[in-house]
Amino acid sequence: MVQPRILTLANQKGGVGKTTTAINLATALAAIGERVLIVDIDPQGNASTGFGIDRQARQYSAYDLMTGEVELQDAIVSTNVPNVVVVPSTMDLLGLEMAISDHGDRAFRLRNALSRAGDIIFDGKPITYILIDCPPSLNLLTINSLAAADAVLVPMQCEFFALEGLSQLLQTIEQIKSSLNPNLYIQGVVMTMYDKRNNLSNQVLSDVRSHLGDLVYETVIPRNVRLSEAPSYGKPALLYDLKCAGSQAYLHLATEVIKRERRLTAA
Ligand code: ADP
Ligand code: MG
Repeated sequence: MVQPRILTLANQKGGVGKTTTAINLATALAAIGERVLIVDIDPQGNASTGFGIDRQARQYSAYDLMTGEVELQDAIVSTNVPNVVVVPSTMDLLGLEMAISDHGDRAFRLRNALSRAGDIIFDGKPITYILIDCPPSLNLLTINSLAAADAVLVPMQCEFFALEGLSQLLQTIEQIKSSLNPNLYIQGVVMTMYDKRNNLSNQVLSDVRSHLGDLVYETVIPRNVRLSEAPSYGKPALLYDLKCAGSQAYLHLATEVIKRERRLTAA
C-alpha cells in the first residue's frame, strides 16, 4: 500500500484563495496524471459546491468521517472531473468541535480517518494526492488537518495585509510540529489574485518574496474573472475555460507542487 501525499491548504484569513486553489490545483494535478481526493472540512462547503456536488448528494460528509460514523471509502463522492473525488462538507461540521472535544484523540480524527487512504481504489486505481480545504480559522478542524498532513500549502492574497497573520499561522504550524506531527513542513506559499497592472500588487509580491524567499512558489495566480465565475457553474476553471490565465497558472502550480514533493520525498 502506498500512502497518498496529504497536503493541507491553510490560512486563517478568509477570502485568500484556499478553496479556489484546492479546486483548481486538484483538477490540474489530475490533468497531469495524479488521482486526487479533496477533503472539504470548511462548514461553508465551497469546495464541494465548486464541483457541483449539491446538498442532496452529500449523504455523508467530513463530519461523519471525523466522528467515525462512516469509513473513508463510503464518504467519497465522484465529481464531474475525471480522477478527482471529494469528501464533501456539510453544516454539521459547525458542531464537530462540540462532538469530539472530550475525546483524547480529538486532534487526530482526520489523520486516523485517512490512515487507510492508500487502500482506496476508485476507477480501478489508488489515490496519489489528498488536498484538505480548511476553514478560515485556526480551530480544531484546521488543527486536525495539520495533524493529518505531510505538508502545508499557504495561499496568500496579493494585498496590503498579506503578511499580517502569517506569524500566527507559522507559530501554529510549529506547535503542531512539536506536539502532534513532527514531519510536517510548509511546501510553499502561493500568491493569489495578483494584478500586474497594480503597483500595490507588485510591491506586495516583492515584499513577500524578500521576506519568505524560496518558500514562495514561482507560479503566481493572477486575478482572473474566470476563476471566480467557474464555481457558479459547478465546475473548476480548468473545465470551464482551460485557456484562461487562471487555469494555466494552476497547471503551472501543479507541476511545481509535484517537483517539490518529489525533491522532498527523494531526500
Ligand atoms: P478562501 O477559501 O481562502 O476563503 P476563496 O478561494 O473562496 O478563498 O476566494 C475568495 C473569493 O475570491 C471567491 O469569490 C473567489 O471566487 C475569488 N477568487 C479567488 N481567487 C481568485 C483569483 N485568482 N482571481 C479572481 N477571483 C478569485
Ligand atoms: Mg474557502
